[in-house]
Amino acid sequence: MTVGQGHIVQGHTAQGHTVQGLAVRDLAEEFGTPLYLYDGAVIERQYLGLRERLHPAVELFYSLKANPNVSICALLHGLGARAEVSSLVELETVLAVGVPAEQILFLGPGKSETEIEACLKAGILAVICESFDELALIDRTAERLGVVARVVLRVNPAFQVKSSGLTMGGKPRQFGIDEEQLLAAPGLAGAHRSVRLTGVQAYPGTRFLSEETLVDNIRRILDLAERVATRLGFEPELVDVGGGLGVAYFAGELDLDVERLTAGINPVVDAFRTRRPGTRLAMELGRYLVAHSGLYVTTVRSVKESLGERFAVADGGTNHHLTAVGIGSAIRRNFPVRLLNRDGAQQTARWNLTGPLCTPSDTLAKGALLPADLRAGDLLGVERSGAYGPTASPVFFLSHGYPAEVLVHRGRARLIRRRDRVEDLLGPQILHDFHDGFHDDPTAERSS
Ligand SMILES: *Cc1c(COP(=O)(O)O)cnc(C)c1O
Repeated sequence: MTVGQGHIVQGHTAQGHTVQGLAVRDLAEEFGTPLYLYDGAVIERQYLGLRERLHPAVELFYSLKANPNVSICALLHGLGARAEVSSLVELETVLAVGVPAEQILFLGPGKSETEIEACLKAGILAVICESFDELALIDRTAERLGVVARVVLRVNPAFQVKSSGLTMGGKPRQFGIDEEQLLAAPGLAGAHRSVRLTGVQAYPGTRFLSEETLVDNIRRILDLAERVATRLGFEPELVDVGGGLGVAYFAGELDLDVERLTAGINPVVDAFRTRRPGTRLAMELGRYLVAHSGLYVTTVRSVKESLGERFAVADGGTNHHLTAVGIGSAIRRNFPVRLLNRDGAQQTARWNLTGPLCTPSDTLAKGALLPADLRAGDLLGVERSGAYGPTASPVFFLSHGYPAEVLVHRGRARLIRRRDRVEDLLGPQILHDFHDGFHDDPTAERSS
């Protein structure tokens, strides 16, 4: 009945897959496909499971990048999550949801002056600064507005971390300022009149599935923060230890054990708090909070065979779920895929699951085990798809647009984003009429 850690409240019955007792079959009929279906109870479980075990001094910031839907943000805010944003619209999203300014961090390379101004006007907790140039821009903007900007320095640490995921420390990067360069700039804290340095942030990578590596990262970032702040002569009010908590997507991977993880982190935090009781601590979490909750639901439009391989061609594909193509790996690996509308226990045949795009790369899964009798009209689901779904995909490719998004919470399904309509795609385009170009009187055109 339950599969994996992520599906406590999801079941599989004679009427197919259910989410909080609601048949996906019925939801697909009501809202149409392709469809992203989120289980609010799973988001709750992920957040509270960590919150209840983690040292209370560590504040949890939800990275909107993973899934910026306003209702998902509202759900997480309701649970107590703070917010980490990286664009003007992400900032406006969390302000609209009611996240207090002092619970918002803004991070990301290439911030615009407009974005910095919006942060300063809202009075957010801190702008996380990614370069010396940007520090000067924040200073100028703050001076113009007559405020003092709270700035957290993002450090590209000298240390490097081994992981299955994306590594960021100890490499040339557009993110943050190299540790060596910061240590060589002891006058930085006093160099900008409208900036107050309030902290240090580092993010050595993502998709870590080893508890030991994550604990080690945090220990090193806390040391790094003290080293940098001491050298630059400011009191660290906030240390953002990054995050990078992974999710098991592929065969052979195991989800993090939250008991084991927090048992490792908490003593490290305790030791730091003894030295610096007044320093706030932040952790950034994207996929860990939302990935398990999401199911990407498609309808099979046709099945076919080509040179001995089976294909299920569905109404949605990589245009909505590019992440399923595989992450950081040269070898093709599949996200978990399952049949949703009927009993799919007999997953015995190999299928390629493809979408509606006119490119062979539109393949959601290759050689996935599914029932041999798959047919047009069947519903297929890609699991663990709540993070980096449509927002990280080419939704405009072939002008299919954004899929519908539905959140099931407390037993009720609500539409949280409607499917793009024809006018959503055509509307922003500007039609010029070139039809009569050859016959135009050039003097008439000039005078108009
Ligand atoms: C992308 C990103 C995150 C969120 O990453 P997840 O893997 O979704 O947890 C957090 N912090 C920074 C700096 C990021 O770039």
